[in-house]
Amino acid sequence: MDFSQLNKQRAKSFNDQKALIKKLSQGRTVICPHCELPISLTLNQHAQRSAIARCQTGCTLIELDLM
Ligand SMILES: [Zn+2]
Repeated sequence: MDFSQLNKQRAKSFNDQKALIKKLSQGRTVICPHCELPISLTLNQHAQRSAIARCQTGCTLIELDLM
């Protein structure tokens, strides 16, 4: 895993993350810009109001509070 890429993802604006989660929650397919695999949305089992959007290889990993 490339941690500098991960940090860039984390540094992305909250609005960008929110837009991504919104697309995923609408059932739209979002492709990871790094590995070009689809990003999937999963609810965080431990915190019901947060969700995790990640691609299959993990280069995109966004945890977002859904409130
Ligand atoms: Zn990826």
